[in-house]
Amino acid sequence: MSNILKFRNNPWTTDYHSHTSDWSDGENTVEEMISKAESIGLERLMITDHCTIEEKNMYSLGRNGARRDPSARNINDNGTNLILGFGVEADILDEEGNIRSDIQERYFDFIILSLHGSAYTGDPRKVTEGFINAMKKYPIRIIGHPYDFHLDPMNVGQIVKCANKFGIGVEFNCKSVLSGNANMDGVMTVLDKSEKLYFTTDAHSVDALEEDRRRGLQFLKDEGFERDISRGKE
Ligand SMILES: [Zn+2]
Ligand SMILES: [Zn+2]
Repeated sequence: MSNILKFRNNPWTTDYHSHTSDWSDGENTVEEMISKAESIGLERLMITDHCTIEEKNMYSLGRNGARRDPSARNINDNGTNLILGFGVEADILDEEGNIRSDIQERYFDFIILSLHGSAYTGDPRKVTEGFINAMKKYPIRIIGHPYDFHLDPMNVGQIVKCANKFGIGVEFNCKSVLSGNANMDGVMTVLDKSEKLYFTTDAHSVDALEEDRRRGLQFLKDEGFERDISRGKE
């Protein structure tokens, strides 16, 4: 593997995957995440709460019950220099590539598609097929943590290849990697092969927005990517 990492985004100033207590299982509100993002010098933040599968997953219920309309806030509506956007972390549901992508029946242009074990009701041996079918059908922006140990076996190489074909991003997800929840061969495959590689924290708190970014970058440094992490422009 080459030790030159070409992220599409700048890990120091942007984040494309985060959660809040207003809309899913984050620990902090949208407002608190914005304040933190500003204080650590982020220039762009995407809030991508989980889709609503209430009957199955507690993570899709806003922790604080505020149920505010995420679309009520528009990009640059926050009166600061932070560019704020709202998306969704959608769930893959089965091998046919059906997905759930609404948050309480609201839809978003920015979709991260991930597998979370309890939401997937298809054949557990055909998750890879499910991702490939979903990429053919839906305007997905980023594939979320395809190396997590949820269901086996997932073919990360095939998923990345298909994502490259359709111009879809794949993430280096700090939360997943740092939690030990990731298959490291899969992580390395993503770092090595993805043509649209994104650095994301998947922060579920203000602390994670800051600390997991630092620790994720440290992880890459420890893996030998120190001098060659390019700072993408997105
Ligand atoms: Zn996820
Ligand atoms: Zn997430």
